[in-house]
Parts: sequence; C-alpha cells; structure tokens
Amino acid sequence: MTALKSVRGTRDLLPPETSLWNRIEATARAVFARYNFGEIRTPIFEDTSLFARGVGEETDIVSKEMYTWEDRARAQSEKSQSLTLRPENTAGVVRAYIEHKLGETGQLQKLYYIGPQFRRERPQKGRYRQFWQIGAEVIGPPSAGSESPLRDAEILEMLATFLDALGIAGSTLDLNSVGSAADRARYNDVLRAALVPLAPKMCADCRRRAVTNPLRVLDCKVPEDQPIIETLPKIGDSLGDDSRAHFVQVTAALDAAGVPYRLHPRLVRGLDYYTRTTFEFTHGGLGAQNALLGGGRYDGLSEAIGGPKAPGIGFAMGLDRLVLTLQAQEAERKTAPKADGYIAPLGENLNAPALALARELRRAGLTIELGDGSFRLKKSFEAAEKTALRIVILGEDELSSGMLTVKDFASGIQTKVPRSDLTRMLAEPSRS
Ligand code: AMP
Repeated sequence: MTALKSVRGTRDLLPPETSLWNRIEATARAVFARYNFGEIRTPIFEDTSLFARGVGEETDIVSKEMYTWEDRARAQSEKSQSLTLRPENTAGVVRAYIEHKLGETGQLQKLYYIGPQFRRERPQKGRYRQFWQIGAEVIGPPSAGSESPLRDAEILEMLATFLDALGIAGSTLDLNSVGSAADRARYNDVLRAALVPLAPKMCADCRRRAVTNPLRVLDCKVPEDQPIIETLPKIGDSLGDDSRAHFVQVTAALDAAGVPYRLHPRLVRGLDYYTRTTFEFTHGGLGAQNALLGGGRYDGLSEAIGGPKAPGIGFAMGLDRLVLTLQAQEAERKTAPKADGYIAPLGENLNAPALALARELRRAGLTIELGDGSFRLKKSFEAAEKTALRIVILGEDELSSGMLTVKDFASGIQTKVPRSDLTRMLAEPSRS
C-alpha cells in the first residue's frame, strides 16, 4: 500500500524548527503588547460571501484561489451554505468587529491575530497552500481617530520595531497611496480608457480585468505584460487633495520617527478593499516570493460587508517567510566570511612579488589571503575556493605584462585584469 503524504502545498512543522516559529510568535505578542494590541481569534472558515464582498470578486484570491465547498443542509428545510477556508484574516476581523458591535465602545480597536490561511496557489519556495500569517488591525469609528495618518505611521513604525526585535536585517518598506474610493473610481476610468488599445495585446486575465476592474491589471505577473503595465498612468496622478494631504502626513510622521521607506507608485496590492496608504516590506533573501508582509488602509471595508462606517488600517505578514529569512540569515552567519582575494604565485621565485601585491591590496583596505609559490596550481585553487571569493594568479607573464588572471568562484568567470584595476575589481561584490 502506498504511504499517505501531506497534501501538496501543506507541510508538517517539526522540532527543532518549531522553536523558531514560537520565538517569532512570542516576539510579535511582546512587541504588539507594547502598542496595546489585544489578540483576536476568528474561525478558520467563513461564509463565502464575506470574501467575495470584502476581498473582491475580481481579485486572484477570490476568483482562483479559494477552498470553497457547499456545506450540506442538515434538514430538508435548511438550505446548503457556501463556506470557504479563510484566504486572509482582515475580512474575518472586520466581520467580528461588526457582529460584536465593537464600534459602539467609541474606542479604536487594536487587534492582532496569528493563524493559518489557505489559498490554492502554485506551491514554490515561500508559497504554500496552507500558510501562516501574523497580522494586526486598527479599526474604529472616525470619531475615535481611525482615519488619522498617525495610525498609518504608527503601524509602520511598529512593524519596523518588530523586524528589528526579531533581528531581520535588510528589509525594504515600499509605500504608496491608492487614494479614496472616489479617487480609485476616477483612476479606474483613466485606466479603462488607457487599456482600450493595449488590452488586446495582453493576457486573457488582463483583457477581462481591463473591462471589469482595471486596477487589478496592475497585479498581473505575466512577464510579457510588464512593459505594457509600465506605460500605464500612475494612480498618484488621480489622487484628490484630501488623499494627497493624508499621504504627506503619513510620510512626514515616518520621517520624524526615522523609519526608512521607498515610494513605490505602482504598489496597489491584490485586494480590492485597500484605500489610501498601501505598503509592503520585501526582503532580498527570499527569492521570487520576496514579500515579507503587506497591508494598508481599508476605509470602506466595513460598509462593503454590511457594517457601520469604520475606517481601519492593518497588515499581514507571512510567518513562513519570516522563518525562511531568519534561517537564511543564520546559515550565512555560520559560514565563515571569505577574503576578497587569494593571491597564487606560480613558482617560488614569485613569492616576493606576490607579497608586494598583497601589501598593495591590503593597504587599499581589501582582505587578502596569500598562497605560496611551492603549491601546484590545483592546490592553490582548492585553498583559494575555501577561503576567498576570487583567486588572482601571478605568474611570470602576469608580472611582466601587468595583466593578472582573476577567477570569480561564484560565477565561474575568469578574466584578465590590469593591475591598476585590481583593487576596484576585488572590491566589487562577487557575482553569485
Ligand atoms: P496578502 O494577504 O496577499 O497581502 O499577503 C500578506 C503576506 O502573507 C505576504 O506578504 C506573504 O508574506 C504572506 N503570504 C501570502 N500568500 C502566501 C502563500 N501562499 N504562502 C506563504 N506566504 C504567503
């Protein structure tokens, strides 16, 4: 009998890795507590219409990726119900906010969650069908200050603090504003017009979206469509004065708090409910799936699912991706740092010129390993590959011509480099 395995896109988390998961979760709880957030746990499945109305029918998540089933009626008189495994948690939190009338307290609700989400995506490194998110939402009636740009800046500052507390280095915060519902409607019209001549050259999804929900064209990942998308009008040009002023205040507060960010005029994110501030933290170490977390404002979401006016802002981060990033950082720390270059003199009579060359390069600030002219070339290569990023070969020819042979181990490329250019070349990052 063939042994059963975990379903494609799902996986078991085992010790010792689970201790890293626990550390990340504990750090999130500790940091969020300092900002006075409390935990919410919502059900793992909800009525399908919550996501259709909240996230948006035309989004990839709702149109392609949901695990949905008709739940059987218990009695003849009862109708069956369409249910869905939650693909994200913001819609569930807002539903709970409405259901429990949390807005009636008149206070801002600051809620965080940690739990699994489900999307039928093509699995790859960092992308799973069951994955975990840590997220938080700040939501409340406008009278509680829920629309204030300070809430946006505070959430972003909290995220920067959390990533620091975890020891994640080298992430980038990309920031944009997608404007109010009215701005977005205006932008959708501008886009729809711009897409009339372009859509026929684009993928089938884009041809459909160009008519139904043009904004979603910007989510397209098809490589051939990217040059066309680059030419489309930018949402920033459709923003009204209020949205512009709001965004200026968000960035001013971030500047004052010293939180670095990069403006990203095409960042619209794949969910329909976003308004005004949208953001993403990416990390270079993650490969193709480089988004650590994403979020933004959703001022109209509560009304879209039948609730009172309750502007809010939140984010969700991929716990799986935080784990991958920390593991990669850990592995990098464990591998000994390599010297910039290894000088291999070809023969003992070249030892003295090799020392002179090493001195020249070290004085220029480089870290240099010096081999020995008694080594055979093969042995020099083996020693060099273990200790340095590149090998510099110094033979009679090289010495007289002033052209040195350099091999970069990461790329395998071997080149001739004039001696006067060697310092600059060895100081460049190795091409892995
Ligand atoms: P989203 O809800 O699409 O805005 O995603 C928020 C964050 O959740 C992303 O930045 C990722 O870190 C993570 N995430 C989304 N989809 C997946 C997935 N299929 N597998 C792993 N992590 C994911």
